[in-house]
Amino acid sequence: MRQFAREEVAPAAEELDRTKSFPYELISKLGGLGLMGIPFPEDQGGGGADTLAYTMAIEELARIDSSVAITVAAHTSLGTMPIHLWGTDEQKSEWMPALCAGEKLASFGLTEPEAGSDAGNTSTTATLTDGEWVINGAKQFITNSGTDISGCVTITAVTGRSNGGGGGAERKEISNIIVPNGTPGYEQGEPYRKMGWNASDTRPLSFDDCRVPESNLLGRRGDGFKQFMQILDGGRIGVSAMGVGLAQGALDEALAYAKERRAFGQPISRFQTIQAKIADLSAQIEAARLLTYRAAIQKDRGEPFTLTAAQAKLITGRLAVRATEEAVQIHGGYGYIEEYPVCRFYRDAKVLTIGEGTDEVQQMVIARQLGC
Ligand SMILES: Cc1cc2nc3c(=O)[nH]c(=O)nc-3n(C[C@H](O)[C@H](O)[C@H](O)COP(=O)(O)OP(=O)(O)OC[C@H]3O[C@@H](n4cnc5c(N)ncnc54)[C@H](O)[C@@H]3O)c2cc1C
Repeated sequence: MRQFAREEVAPAAEELDRTKSFPYELISKLGGLGLMGIPFPEDQGGGGADTLAYTMAIEELARIDSSVAITVAAHTSLGTMPIHLWGTDEQKSEWMPALCAGEKLASFGLTEPEAGSDAGNTSTTATLTDGEWVINGAKQFITNSGTDISGCVTITAVTGRSNGGGGGAERKEISNIIVPNGTPGYEQGEPYRKMGWNASDTRPLSFDDCRVPESNLLGRRGDGFKQFMQILDGGRIGVSAMGVGLAQGALDEALAYAKERRAFGQPISRFQTIQAKIADLSAQIEAARLLTYRAAIQKDRGEPFTLTAAQAKLITGRLAVRATEEAVQIHGGYGYIEEYPVCRFYRDAKVLTIGEGTDEVQQMVIARQLGC
């Protein structure tokens, strides 16, 4: 992945970002190399590798370009993973080979206008009528949902209500349902104009009496909440890898520039204040990388990893924001000019403290895990 990122992604990244163009060619090449399904079984078309290998691959992509990295990460850990984990044999054989080959992209539709951090507040409904789910509602900020190769979105929807058998408050029964692109009643809105991740695809979705077969239910009816919590836990490792990679990419650029740029008759890398920034970043990146790998290793060993993944997500998002800011600072005026990758890196960093659970949500998860 490092070689691919340097040889194929780096030369294209600036233009893709500037023209806000989805990287179709790169995704097709990644699919050809077997990198669009790294952690999935080989007999389903996947790479047969573990979470740690996947984490390192995402890190290397984000070191060069975050738009391509989030496209692969959202496709893998959010879009394809639920089908791998809970799909029936029929669902797997319908979707996994094309998704792992990168011929189709998968997306995960959790966030709604009134359900972001409070993701259980889903108001999209799916009503079972004559053997079909009739879906009504809206989702927003959904990655990979509206490209020419988007194959399906897995959405959370309210499929019933219960009062838990007692006189308590009414509870929503939430389930996951696969909705193929092209299904009548399922529309993708125009892509958002974003601060960063310009070459990735993010759109609002609407469902208006959208009908899919009953067999598109993913996993058990009513397990949707539990399932999406599990998906978010794993997804956080991928997003942490993006933070590590982006911070490392910013340091790579800053270090190279500092050795080259001269002021007061010497390279700026000779100044102690510049050295302190570079030294601090290198130490913090190494620590964040090891924490991220630890979460991946815990997941691979079947150990609990919710706490470590949330800690890694919290640390790496903030580190990416700080590292990219310092890298721009070290570049001086050129850091503010788009031809230099650090300018794009700075814009791409901020979302890492928001997506896949905000920093405040990570703090909640961590505090709960610690017994608060
Ligand atoms: C580029 C991009 C791509 C995305 N891709 C996807 C995707 O593919 N699929 C998907 O489902 N979603 C996706 N998202 C959505 C993302 O996960 C949400 O934006 C995020 O979870 C925050 O939800 P929200 O935007 O509704 O913010 P809100 O929940 O409205 O939060 C607003 C602020 O309030 C704070 N807050 C909320 N509750 C609390 C609390 N209890 N205590 C303290 N503070 C709190 C938050 O931390 C935040 O600072 C994407 C978002 C972006 C920007």
